[in-house]
Amino acid sequence: MPADRVSVNRRDFLKAVAGGVAAAGLPAWALAKAAGERPNFVVIFTDDQGYQDIGCFGAPKIKTPNLDRMAAEGMKFTDFYVAAPVCSPSRAALLTGCYPIRTGVTRVLFPRDSTGLKPGMKTIADVLKTRGYATACIGKWHLGHKPPHLPTFHGFDSYYGIPYSNDMRPTPLMRNTETVEEPANQATLTQRYTREAVAFLKANRDKPFFLYVPHTMPHVPLAVSEAFKGKSAGGLYGDVIEEIDWSTGEILKTLKDLGLDSQTLVIYTSDNGPWLSKRDKGGCSLPLRDGKFSTYEGGFREPCIMRWPGTIPPAAVCAETALTMDLLPTLARLAGADLPAGYKLNGKDISTLMTNPGAKTPHEAFFYYRGTTLEAVRSGKWKAILYAKGADGLPAKPHDLYDLKADIGEKINVAAANPDVVTRLAALAEAGVQANGGKFGRGVRKKKPKKTPKKPAAR
Ligand code: MG
Repeated sequence: MPADRVSVNRRDFLKAVAGGVAAAGLPAWALAKAAGERPNFVVIFTDDQGYQDIGCFGAPKIKTPNLDRMAAEGMKFTDFYVAAPVCSPSRAALLTGCYPIRTGVTRVLFPRDSTGLKPGMKTIADVLKTRGYATACIGKWHLGHKPPHLPTFHGFDSYYGIPYSNDMRPTPLMRNTETVEEPANQATLTQRYTREAVAFLKANRDKPFFLYVPHTMPHVPLAVSEAFKGKSAGGLYGDVIEEIDWSTGEILKTLKDLGLDSQTLVIYTSDNGPWLSKRDKGGCSLPLRDGKFSTYEGGFREPCIMRWPGTIPPAAVCAETALTMDLLPTLARLAGADLPAGYKLNGKDISTLMTNPGAKTPHEAFFYYRGTTLEAVRSGKWKAILYAKGADGLPAKPHDLYDLKADIGEKINVAAANPDVVTRLAALAEAGVQANGGKFGRGVRKKKPKKTPKKPAAR
């Protein structure tokens, strides 16, 4: 039955989303279309923020009242993953719903690079444009800083921000495809991004919108406005996070003032784990192991909060595996948009996780790729760290196995006691390499003395 001939209302739509049940024989995306549902979406994506660096995720010194309230009014995801432990590939995965190895972006892009997403890859903005959404990207893009790789070539109506990392030169501030300031004054960036975001919301209050705010901070060098300087008990890093918390509060306040709360899904997370070698200038991933660059949990698992009053239940916690790659199919479904044609996504629709706290993850396995190497796999509570095969066809070192529910810090290798689980996870990873490409397993490196502590003091 064609979607546009079915009479459905918002209640039918929400029921279908919550239960994953198709009413009138239609999937929820078709119901969304038929019901005229086009909710608004705001994705706030910080840079190098640690798992612990939000009050409600355990930060002992950094104060984040706005994010804590957002979690109290929405859902906290405790097992939420990015698809790379560094900036560019993580962003490629979030926006396309595919593992970075399939997007053409598997490493950090530098100003000397002239590449970006592979031709033909569609972003969340591209997909939502087909349903008439207004779209804006405000912040750090980092998927190519020259045409045709800038945001306005990838479905965004407008762009404002530094196109790559803030430690790269010449650090231009761009509006659409033009440089408007160079080098950018980084101390006022979060304030200016926030003003731009609020103005976009006000200008588009009467139509569906997708606002993507990939903050430049807290990537080093840290910078903060005078209003937040020296205020946090967590030092300069804490000041920066507290300013981002304020920024999130301004966005939420604007949505409330505009009467858009119940029509808007807001998602907050970060692109990869904290840069631990920066010591007090980097964040904290406790209780996870390691941080940025690593395939241990500290590199990939991020704090995540989703809020959508009336649809996502308040004060909820989801401990199921969910991914940034899930956002494209999920938002497409909620907006009634078709998925990109011609290729299969790795992300899956997680709207049932968002609306039903008892729902289970749709992912049998999640693959931790570092560059083009699949180094680890998670399935359920189990995670295996995988080693490449030697000349004899056997792993150069036995794979490691961790029970993430019992041992979130990946301290106790339980591979010897669970050989069947190791075999199952290794087979899933082999299939992952077959399906997505790349190499299987990390090489066995000679141990070098560590110069930096793995876990900085908690802040
Ligand atoms: Mg980053």
